[in-house]
Amino acid sequence: MGPGPSNAAPEVLEALGRPLLGHLDPLFLKILDEIAEKLRIIFRTNNRMTFAVSGTGSAGMEAALVNVLEPGDEAIVAVNGVFGGRMRDVAGRAGAKVVSVESEWGRIIEPDDVARALDEHPDAKAFALVHAETSTGVAQPIDAIAQLVKAHGVLFVLDTVTSLGGMPVDVDGWGVDVCYSGTQKCLSVPPGLAPITFSERALDVVRSRRTPVQSWYLDVGLLEGYWGSDRVYHHTAPISMLTALHAGLGVVLDEGLEKSFARHAANAALLAEGLVTRGFSYVAPEGFRLPMLHCVRLPDGVEDASARASLLNDRGIEVGSGLGPFKGTCWRIGLMGHTSRQENVARLLEAIDAL
Ligand code: PLP
Repeated sequence: MGPGPSNAAPEVLEALGRPLLGHLDPLFLKILDEIAEKLRIIFRTNNRMTFAVSGTGSAGMEAALVNVLEPGDEAIVAVNGVFGGRMRDVAGRAGAKVVSVESEWGRIIEPDDVARALDEHPDAKAFALVHAETSTGVAQPIDAIAQLVKAHGVLFVLDTVTSLGGMPVDVDGWGVDVCYSGTQKCLSVPPGLAPITFSERALDVVRSRRTPVQSWYLDVGLLEGYWGSDRVYHHTAPISMLTALHAGLGVVLDEGLEKSFARHAANAALLAEGLVTRGFSYVAPEGFRLPMLHCVRLPDGVEDASARASLLNDRGIEVGSGLGPFKGTCWRIGLMGHTSRQENVARLLEAIDAL
Protein backbone atom coordinates (compact mmCIF):
# COMPACT_ATOMS: atom_id res chain seq x y z
CA MET A 1 0.00 0.00 0.00
CA GLY A 2 2.87 2.34 -0.81
CA PRO A 3 2.96 4.86 -3.66
CA GLY A 4 3.83 2.09 -6.15
CA PRO A 5 4.58 -0.59 -7.08
CA SER A 6 1.13 -1.98 -6.33
CA ASN A 7 0.57 -5.71 -5.97
CA ALA A 8 0.62 -7.44 -9.34
CA ALA A 9 -2.56 -9.22 -10.43
CA PRO A 10 -2.23 -13.05 -10.35
CA GLU A 11 -2.79 -13.21 -14.13
CA VAL A 12 0.22 -10.90 -14.50
CA LEU A 13 2.47 -13.05 -12.32
CA GLU A 14 1.42 -16.11 -14.32
CA ALA A 15 2.26 -14.32 -17.59
CA LEU A 16 5.69 -13.31 -16.26
CA GLY A 17 6.58 -16.96 -15.76
CA ARG A 18 5.73 -18.13 -19.27
CA PRO A 19 8.44 -19.49 -21.58
CA LEU A 20 9.97 -16.81 -23.76
CA LEU A 21 8.96 -16.05 -27.33
CA GLY A 22 11.36 -14.35 -29.74
CA HIS A 23 10.87 -10.63 -30.08
CA LEU A 24 10.05 -11.08 -33.79
CA ASP A 25 8.01 -14.27 -33.31
CA PRO A 26 4.61 -13.86 -35.05
CA LEU A 27 2.83 -14.79 -31.81
CA PHE A 28 4.73 -12.11 -29.92
CA LEU A 29 4.06 -9.52 -32.64
CA LYS A 30 0.37 -10.27 -32.18
CA ILE A 31 0.79 -9.58 -28.46
CA LEU A 32 2.36 -6.22 -29.33
CA ASP A 33 -0.57 -5.33 -31.58
CA GLU A 34 -2.99 -6.25 -28.82
CA ILE A 35 -1.06 -4.19 -26.25
CA ALA A 36 -1.29 -1.17 -28.54
CA GLU A 37 -5.00 -1.76 -29.07
CA LYS A 38 -5.71 -2.13 -25.34
CA LEU A 39 -3.61 0.94 -24.52
CA ARG A 40 -5.62 2.97 -27.04
CA ILE A 41 -8.77 2.05 -25.12
CA ILE A 42 -7.27 2.90 -21.72
CA PHE A 43 -5.68 6.16 -22.91
CA ARG A 44 -8.88 6.92 -24.88
CA THR A 45 -7.07 7.66 -28.10
CA ASN A 46 -6.98 6.68 -31.73
CA ASN A 47 -3.27 7.51 -31.96
CA ARG A 48 -1.51 5.01 -34.21
CA MET A 49 1.79 5.39 -32.34
CA THR A 50 0.68 3.96 -29.00
CA PHE A 51 3.13 1.53 -27.43
CA ALA A 52 5.24 0.75 -24.35
CA VAL A 53 8.70 2.24 -23.83
CA SER A 54 11.26 -0.22 -22.38
CA GLY A 55 11.94 1.34 -18.99
CA THR A 56 9.98 2.71 -16.05
CA GLY A 57 7.72 5.76 -15.96
CA SER A 58 10.72 8.08 -16.00
CA ALA A 59 11.76 6.54 -19.34
CA GLY A 60 8.28 7.46 -20.60
CA MET A 61 8.86 11.00 -19.34
CA GLU A 62 12.22 11.20 -21.10
CA ALA A 63 10.78 9.70 -24.30
CA ALA A 64 7.97 12.26 -24.31
CA LEU A 65 10.22 15.26 -23.75
CA VAL A 66 13.40 14.40 -25.67
CA ASN A 67 11.43 13.61 -28.82
CA VAL A 68 9.48 16.86 -29.00
CA LEU A 69 12.09 19.26 -27.57
CA GLU A 70 15.35 20.34 -29.15
CA PRO A 71 18.06 22.64 -27.86
CA GLY A 72 16.83 26.22 -27.77
CA ASP A 73 13.09 25.37 -27.76
CA GLU A 74 10.98 26.99 -25.09
CA ALA A 75 8.93 24.68 -22.85
CA ILE A 76 6.48 25.52 -20.08
CA VAL A 77 6.41 22.98 -17.26
CA ALA A 78 3.91 22.94 -14.39
CA VAL A 79 5.54 22.15 -11.05
CA ASN A 80 3.68 21.45 -7.81
CA GLY A 81 5.56 18.39 -6.58
CA VAL A 82 8.39 15.95 -7.24
CA PHE A 83 7.26 14.77 -10.66
CA GLY A 84 6.60 18.18 -12.18
CA GLY A 85 10.07 19.03 -10.91
CA ARG A 86 11.47 15.95 -12.64
CA MET A 87 9.81 16.97 -15.93
CA ARG A 88 11.40 20.40 -15.63
CA ASP A 89 14.79 18.77 -15.10
CA VAL A 90 14.37 16.41 -18.06
CA ALA A 91 13.17 19.23 -20.36
CA GLY A 92 16.18 21.32 -19.35
CA ARG A 93 18.57 18.43 -20.01
CA ALA A 94 17.00 18.10 -23.48
CA GLY A 95 18.30 21.63 -24.07
CA ALA A 96 14.99 23.46 -23.73
CA LYS A 97 14.66 26.90 -22.15
CA VAL A 98 12.24 25.98 -19.40
CA VAL A 99 9.64 28.27 -17.90
CA SER A 100 7.90 26.95 -14.77
CA VAL A 101 4.32 27.50 -13.68
CA GLU A 102 4.44 26.73 -9.99
CA SER A 103 1.98 26.06 -7.19
CA GLU A 104 2.65 25.23 -3.59
CA TRP A 105 3.05 21.47 -3.02
CA GLY A 106 -0.40 20.09 -2.20
CA ARG A 107 -2.24 22.62 -4.40
CA ILE A 108 -3.40 22.25 -7.99
CA ILE A 109 -1.83 24.15 -10.89
CA GLU A 110 -4.15 27.12 -11.48
CA PRO A 111 -5.47 27.63 -15.04
CA ASP A 112 -4.96 31.42 -14.66
CA ASP A 113 -1.24 30.88 -14.05
CA VAL A 114 -1.03 28.64 -17.11
CA ALA A 115 -2.89 31.26 -19.18
CA ARG A 116 -0.42 33.92 -18.05
CA ALA A 117 2.61 31.77 -18.90
CA LEU A 118 1.19 30.92 -22.35
CA ASP A 119 0.52 34.63 -23.03
CA GLU A 120 3.98 35.66 -21.85
CA HIS A 121 5.71 32.95 -23.91
CA PRO A 122 3.97 32.88 -27.29
CA ASP A 123 6.86 30.92 -28.83
CA ALA A 124 6.63 28.04 -26.35
CA LYS A 125 6.67 24.72 -28.15
CA ALA A 126 5.29 22.46 -25.41
CA PHE A 127 3.42 22.56 -22.13
CA ALA A 128 3.97 19.71 -19.67
CA LEU A 129 1.72 18.78 -16.75
CA VAL A 130 1.30 15.95 -14.20
CA HIS A 131 -2.23 14.55 -13.91
CA ALA A 132 -1.78 12.67 -10.62
CA GLU A 133 1.05 14.14 -8.50
CA THR A 134 2.16 11.12 -6.47
CA SER A 135 4.24 13.24 -4.08
CA THR A 136 1.22 15.19 -2.79
CA GLY A 137 -1.90 13.19 -3.70
CA VAL A 138 -3.26 16.08 -5.77
CA ALA A 139 -5.58 15.31 -8.70
CA GLN A 140 -5.03 17.98 -11.32
CA PRO A 141 -8.19 19.06 -13.19
CA ILE A 142 -7.38 19.00 -16.88
CA ASP A 143 -10.32 20.48 -18.85
CA ALA A 144 -9.68 24.23 -18.42
CA ILE A 145 -5.93 23.88 -18.93
CA ALA A 146 -6.43 21.65 -21.98
CA GLN A 147 -8.57 24.36 -23.60
CA LEU A 148 -5.91 27.00 -22.97
CA VAL A 149 -3.14 24.81 -24.37
CA LYS A 150 -5.22 24.01 -27.44
CA ALA A 151 -6.07 27.69 -28.02
CA HIS A 152 -2.34 28.54 -28.03
CA GLY A 153 -1.48 25.66 -30.39
CA VAL A 154 1.21 24.39 -28.03
CA LEU A 155 2.07 20.66 -27.76
CA PHE A 156 0.47 19.16 -24.64
CA VAL A 157 2.57 16.60 -22.71
CA LEU A 158 0.77 14.83 -19.87
CA ASP A 159 2.10 12.50 -17.14
CA THR A 160 -0.47 9.84 -16.21
CA VAL A 161 1.91 7.47 -14.42
CA THR A 162 -0.28 7.21 -11.34
CA SER A 163 -3.71 7.93 -12.83
CA LEU A 164 -3.95 5.58 -15.83
CA GLY A 165 -6.43 2.78 -15.21
CA GLY A 166 -7.60 4.18 -11.85
CA MET A 167 -9.33 7.38 -12.96
CA PRO A 168 -10.46 8.77 -16.31
CA VAL A 169 -7.71 9.75 -18.76
CA ASP A 170 -8.98 11.19 -22.05
CA VAL A 171 -6.04 11.76 -24.38
CA ASP A 172 -8.02 12.65 -27.51
CA GLY A 173 -10.78 14.48 -25.64
CA TRP A 174 -8.22 16.69 -23.88
CA GLY A 175 -6.10 17.15 -27.00
CA VAL A 176 -3.01 15.66 -25.37
CA ASP A 177 -0.13 15.23 -27.84
CA VAL A 178 2.15 12.98 -25.81
CA CYS A 179 0.87 11.04 -22.82
CA TYR A 180 2.92 8.51 -20.86
CA SER A 181 2.35 6.26 -17.87
CA GLY A 182 3.99 3.46 -15.90
CA THR A 183 3.00 -0.14 -15.36
CA GLN A 184 3.42 -0.42 -11.59
CA LYS A 185 0.51 1.67 -10.34
CA CYS A 186 -3.11 1.15 -11.42
CA LEU A 187 -2.20 -1.35 -14.17
CA SER A 188 -0.95 -3.81 -11.49
CA VAL A 189 2.09 -4.88 -13.51
CA PRO A 190 5.65 -4.76 -12.12
CA PRO A 191 7.73 -1.66 -12.85
CA GLY A 192 9.65 -1.81 -16.12
CA LEU A 193 7.56 -0.41 -18.96
CA ALA A 194 6.11 2.99 -19.79
CA PRO A 195 2.95 2.99 -21.90
CA ILE A 196 3.02 6.03 -24.18
CA THR A 197 1.03 7.58 -27.01
CA PHE A 198 2.01 10.25 -29.58
CA SER A 199 -0.49 12.25 -31.66
CA GLU A 200 0.18 12.65 -35.40
CA ARG A 201 0.86 16.33 -34.66
CA ALA A 202 3.58 15.34 -32.18
CA LEU A 203 5.06 12.87 -34.70
CA ASP A 204 5.11 15.64 -37.36
CA VAL A 205 7.04 17.81 -34.90
CA VAL A 206 9.53 14.98 -34.32
CA ARG A 207 9.91 14.43 -38.09
CA SER A 208 10.63 18.10 -38.72
CA ARG A 209 13.34 18.44 -36.06
CA ARG A 210 16.50 20.35 -36.98
CA THR A 211 18.60 17.95 -34.88
CA PRO A 212 18.39 14.18 -34.30
CA VAL A 213 16.66 13.06 -31.12
CA GLN A 214 19.46 13.12 -28.54
CA SER A 215 18.51 9.64 -27.22
CA TRP A 216 18.95 6.82 -29.72
CA TYR A 217 17.12 4.39 -27.42
CA LEU A 218 14.04 6.56 -26.98
CA ASP A 219 13.81 7.99 -30.52
CA VAL A 220 10.15 7.47 -31.46
CA GLY A 221 11.03 7.57 -35.17
CA LEU A 222 13.29 4.52 -34.70
CA LEU A 223 10.85 2.79 -32.34
CA GLU A 224 8.16 3.16 -35.01
CA GLY A 225 10.19 0.69 -37.09
CA TYR A 226 9.50 -2.02 -34.52
CA TRP A 227 6.06 -1.08 -33.19
CA GLY A 228 4.75 -0.06 -36.64
CA SER A 229 4.14 -2.33 -39.62
CA ASP A 230 7.81 -2.73 -40.66
CA ARG A 231 8.67 -4.85 -37.61
CA VAL A 232 12.39 -4.23 -37.82
CA TYR A 233 14.74 -4.84 -34.92
CA HIS A 234 15.56 -1.75 -32.82
CA HIS A 235 16.40 -3.23 -29.41
CA THR A 236 15.50 -6.60 -27.96
CA ALA A 237 12.03 -6.10 -26.56
CA PRO A 238 11.57 -7.04 -22.88
CA ILE A 239 9.44 -10.06 -23.77
CA SER A 240 8.33 -11.13 -20.29
CA MET A 241 7.43 -7.62 -19.19
CA LEU A 242 5.42 -7.05 -22.36
CA THR A 243 3.66 -10.38 -21.90
CA ALA A 244 2.88 -9.31 -18.33
CA LEU A 245 1.60 -5.93 -19.51
CA HIS A 246 -0.61 -7.69 -22.04
CA ALA A 247 -2.11 -9.73 -19.18
CA GLY A 248 -2.44 -6.68 -16.91
CA LEU A 249 -4.25 -4.62 -19.54
CA GLY A 250 -6.54 -7.61 -20.08
CA VAL A 251 -7.38 -7.63 -16.36
CA VAL A 252 -8.17 -3.90 -16.40
CA LEU A 253 -10.38 -4.18 -19.48
CA ASP A 254 -12.10 -7.35 -18.28
CA GLU A 255 -13.14 -5.47 -15.15
CA GLY A 256 -14.07 -2.48 -17.33
CA LEU A 257 -12.64 1.02 -17.02
CA GLU A 258 -15.74 2.53 -15.44
CA LYS A 259 -15.88 -0.27 -12.87
CA SER A 260 -12.20 0.15 -12.10
CA PHE A 261 -12.66 3.90 -11.59
CA ALA A 262 -15.68 3.25 -9.36
CA ARG A 263 -13.75 0.67 -7.30
CA HIS A 264 -10.84 3.06 -6.81
CA ALA A 265 -13.26 5.84 -5.78
CA ALA A 266 -15.23 3.64 -3.37
CA ASN A 267 -12.16 2.26 -1.62
CA ALA A 268 -10.67 5.76 -1.46
CA ALA A 269 -13.80 7.04 0.28
CA LEU A 270 -13.66 4.17 2.77
CA LEU A 271 -10.00 4.81 3.55
CA ALA A 272 -10.51 8.58 3.80
CA GLU A 273 -13.30 8.15 6.31
CA GLY A 274 -11.19 5.80 8.42
CA LEU A 275 -8.12 8.02 8.31
CA VAL A 276 -9.94 11.26 9.14
CA THR A 277 -11.73 9.55 12.04
CA ARG A 278 -8.30 8.58 13.37
CA GLY A 279 -6.97 12.13 13.22
CA PHE A 280 -5.13 12.04 9.87
CA SER A 281 -5.70 15.04 7.59
CA TYR A 282 -5.28 15.32 3.84
CA VAL A 283 -2.66 17.53 2.22
CA ALA A 284 -4.79 18.04 -0.92
CA PRO A 285 -8.00 20.07 -0.58
CA GLU A 286 -11.34 18.27 -0.77
CA GLY A 287 -12.40 17.75 -4.37
CA PHE A 288 -8.79 17.55 -5.60
CA ARG A 289 -7.69 14.28 -3.98
CA LEU A 290 -6.49 11.24 -5.86
CA PRO A 291 -8.39 8.02 -5.25
CA MET A 292 -5.26 5.90 -5.62
CA LEU A 293 -2.78 7.92 -3.54
CA HIS A 294 -3.58 9.36 -0.13
CA CYS A 295 -1.06 11.87 1.18
CA VAL A 296 -2.03 12.50 4.80
CA ARG A 297 -0.57 14.35 7.77
CA LEU A 298 0.05 12.14 10.78
CA PRO A 299 -1.98 12.68 13.95
CA ASP A 300 -0.27 13.51 17.24
CA GLY A 301 1.25 10.42 18.78
CA VAL A 302 2.09 8.65 15.51
CA GLU A 303 5.84 8.83 14.88
CA ASP A 304 6.61 8.42 11.17
CA ALA A 305 9.58 6.06 10.98
CA SER A 306 8.72 3.78 13.93
CA ALA A 307 5.05 3.50 12.93
CA ARG A 308 5.90 2.64 9.33
CA ALA A 309 8.45 0.09 10.52
CA SER A 310 5.84 -1.46 12.78
CA LEU A 311 3.26 -1.68 9.96
CA LEU A 312 5.85 -3.32 7.73
CA ASN A 313 7.47 -5.67 10.19
CA ASP A 314 4.46 -6.64 12.32
CA ARG A 315 1.71 -6.55 9.67
CA GLY A 316 3.45 -6.85 6.30
CA ILE A 317 1.94 -3.55 5.14
CA GLU A 318 4.03 -0.98 3.30
CA VAL A 319 3.05 2.68 3.35
CA GLY A 320 5.20 5.42 1.83
CA SER A 321 6.93 8.28 3.60
CA GLY A 322 6.23 11.92 2.82
CA LEU A 323 8.47 13.65 0.29
CA GLY A 324 9.94 17.15 0.25
CA PRO A 325 8.13 19.44 2.72
CA PHE A 326 6.06 16.47 3.93
CA LYS A 327 9.01 14.29 4.96
CA GLY A 328 8.56 12.99 8.49
CA THR A 329 5.05 14.45 8.90
CA CYS A 330 3.00 12.70 6.22
CA TRP A 331 2.38 9.27 4.78
CA ARG A 332 1.56 8.34 1.21
CA ILE A 333 -0.85 5.43 1.14
CA GLY A 334 -1.50 3.71 -2.17
CA LEU A 335 -4.75 2.06 -3.21
CA MET A 336 -3.69 1.31 -6.75
CA GLY A 337 -4.96 -1.33 -9.15
CA HIS A 338 -4.99 -4.79 -7.60
CA THR A 339 -4.17 -3.25 -4.18
CA SER A 340 -7.35 -1.14 -4.18
CA ARG A 341 -9.50 -3.58 -2.21
CA GLN A 342 -11.88 -3.18 0.69
CA GLU A 343 -10.02 -5.81 2.73
CA ASN A 344 -6.76 -3.90 2.37
CA VAL A 345 -8.41 -0.76 3.71
CA ALA A 346 -9.76 -2.71 6.68
CA ARG A 347 -6.37 -4.37 7.35
CA LEU A 348 -4.55 -1.04 7.30
CA LEU A 349 -7.04 0.73 9.59
CA GLU A 350 -6.93 -2.17 12.02
CA ALA A 351 -3.13 -2.09 11.98
CA ILE A 352 -3.13 1.67 12.61
CA ASP A 353 -5.42 1.14 15.60
CA ALA A 354 -2.93 -1.36 17.00
CA LEU A 355 0.06 1.00 16.72
N1 PLP B 1 5.56 10.47 -12.72
C1 PLP B 1 4.81 10.21 -11.64
C2 PLP B 1 3.56 10.98 -11.40
C3 PLP B 1 5.21 9.19 -10.76
O1 PLP B 1 4.45 8.92 -9.68
C4 PLP B 1 6.38 8.47 -11.02
C5 PLP B 1 6.83 7.41 -10.08
O2 PLP B 1 6.31 7.24 -9.02
C6 PLP B 1 7.13 8.80 -12.15
C7 PLP B 1 6.69 9.81 -12.99
C8 PLP B 1 8.40 8.08 -12.45
O3 PLP B 1 8.16 6.74 -12.67
P1 PLP B 1 9.24 5.60 -12.34
O4 PLP B 1 9.57 5.71 -10.90
O5 PLP B 1 8.51 4.36 -12.73
O6 PLP B 1 10.42 5.85 -13.20
